[in-house]
Amino acid sequence: MAEIGILGNGVAANLAAAYFRKTFPDLGVAVIGRNPPRRPIVGESLVEVSTLFIRELGLGPLLIERHHPKYGLTYYYKQKLEDPSDRRYVVDEAPALPPFPSFEVNRFTFDRDLRACNAAAGVTQLEDRIVDVEIVKGAHRVLSEAVDGSKRETVCRWLVDATGRSRVLGRRLGLHIRPALQKDVFWFWLVDFDPALLSRIDAVKKENRSFDSYYCTHHFFGRGSWIWCIPIVAEDRRPMISIGITYRKDLHPREIRSLADFLEQVGAEHPVVTDLVRSGSVRETNFYGSYMYEATRRYSPDGWFLLGDAADTVDPLYSLGLALTSLQVRQIGAAIAEERRGAPTADFVADLDTAFENAHHLATHEITDLYRVMHDPWRCHMRMHLAILAMFHLAVPLSMSGYMWDPAGVKIFNGLMRREALAAELGRLAALVDAAAPARPGYLKVQSVFSLNHRFFEHVRETDIPRSLAALCLYLAALRLSLLRRLGPRGLVAFRHQGAALRDLARAAALRALFQGARLKESRIARRVLAEPPKARRAAARRGVLDRPAFRPSPEAS
Ligand SMILES: Cc1cc2nc3c(=O)[nH]c(=O)nc-3n(C[C@H](O)[C@H](O)[C@H](O)COP(=O)(O)OP(=O)(O)OC[C@H]3O[C@@H](n4cnc5c(N)ncnc54)[C@H](O)[C@@H]3O)c2cc1C
Repeated sequence: MAEIGILGNGVAANLAAAYFRKTFPDLGVAVIGRNPPRRPIVGESLVEVSTLFIRELGLGPLLIERHHPKYGLTYYYKQKLEDPSDRRYVVDEAPALPPFPSFEVNRFTFDRDLRACNAAAGVTQLEDRIVDVEIVKGAHRVLSEAVDGSKRETVCRWLVDATGRSRVLGRRLGLHIRPALQKDVFWFWLVDFDPALLSRIDAVKKENRSFDSYYCTHHFFGRGSWIWCIPIVAEDRRPMISIGITYRKDLHPREIRSLADFLEQVGAEHPVVTDLVRSGSVRETNFYGSYMYEATRRYSPDGWFLLGDAADTVDPLYSLGLALTSLQVRQIGAAIAEERRGAPTADFVADLDTAFENAHHLATHEITDLYRVMHDPWRCHMRMHLAILAMFHLAVPLSMSGYMWDPAGVKIFNGLMRREALAAELGRLAALVDAAAPARPGYLKVQSVFSLNHRFFEHVRETDIPRSLAALCLYLAALRLSLLRRLGPRGLVAFRHQGAALRDLARAAALRALFQGARLKESRIARRVLAEPPKARRAAARRGVLDRPAFRPSPEAS
């Protein structure tokens, strides 16, 4: 019997195994899953949250020794998208060296090193094909087939499904839905290329004295689509770059399934990218059609959990995949710890599920909507500025302070991150951006020291969260007023937006007056005012967000 059984043998499974081994040294951890030599994995780009998690596992030196540093994300907003001969881009880079290190990892190298570390730490590794799973609270059973064809059964108290897009447990329990707005993605790796070609553009940008502009994740925007270029180190130590395009199927003119499609269609918008591709040799192409799905539930008090791609797909625009996976691993660890303490877990597990769903859906749905304006550089950069402000002032400070997995903190997280309310707020701001767009105001710095909240990340103190939230509200009020000014006389009668600016000012004042310097999860007033109200929880339960029946067939399963 292994106390914790993990299905799958990819990055999510092995990060979880490393974390559980370190957090619960008295529990046996088994990873059960195939490790095929070639898999369709991407690059890929880490962010601060995923990097910190990996460093906490003791793998920081591996990142430094084997992978490229990543100096943030760089966005290229093309001014005349329809004109291939025009190479003028507004380029937005990180404003300075980011406060935490991050990396561009070669997943083949990283996953291999991670497995070796897990083996040395005593994780049981069964490179089997999973044949069947039976959910029995306290003694889940996994039937698997070893490479030599022999069958074996593993019994475990907690079961984590990290089987990626195969979604072994989720499919069995009918836990997935397919959003109506679907995306395709096509990508490949390139070697022996000329990296200098990426800078052959007419760039409008702040002078960069902090870092080499090549060591970033490069993002180009097109009609209903965006392209990534992620510099990585090949397993033979040669420079390599992961290049791909993801597009919303209802907005992008045609499918891209092959290199020829890519060169033709991307070449019409971004010849700088296709020049780069033509300068090198392409290694292996990959395509996922209609790749988006979401779980209706990820965690159960019966001791099973869906993790990583086995739960939800992520649109990779902000490199959130492994960051969200690392947050999930901490959440699952917290649920296991609570159960081991003998506390009732149903309510806590439902809160954890809601917290993840709020964070994931808010980010994913906001990105899905962004595709509508990706061809319009000004609107696209404004919408991204707003999303980045929300991420770095709200979601990241709360999650880095443990509010996504602390029993009291998670209620505040769910109160502040209520996705219907935040989506409505972002929707109002997007409408204001749309209204101001014809006046063609100047460009803002999408990633500024303020929008990336460097002030908070200098210390990462829970007690600075109220100040960080108040600063966001004040900034949004000022931004709304400056956009309203662009509307001319129409701005004077835009009462809805004026009301929103006043609400932001009132929120900033209240946060300062009531919570300045407080630990929100320990403050009785904060728990009363900011935590998800019981009414909202009851409404969520009615909608089926909480306490969902485990075996309800989903539209996809049926
Ligand atoms: C286009 C794209 C770009 C991305 N870019 C980034 C990025 O830049 N940064 C980032 O952080 N994230 C990114 N992501 C997300 C990230 O790549 C994924 O979240 C991550 O790879 C998922 O890992 P996983 O372990 O959940 O799944 P997988 O890597 O798919 O692992 C699943 C494992 O389960 C095993 N398995 C499945 N079924 C069975 C079975 N029946 N029996 C035995 N074994 C089985 C498989 O062999 C495999 O080992 C991107 C995703 C996409 C699609």
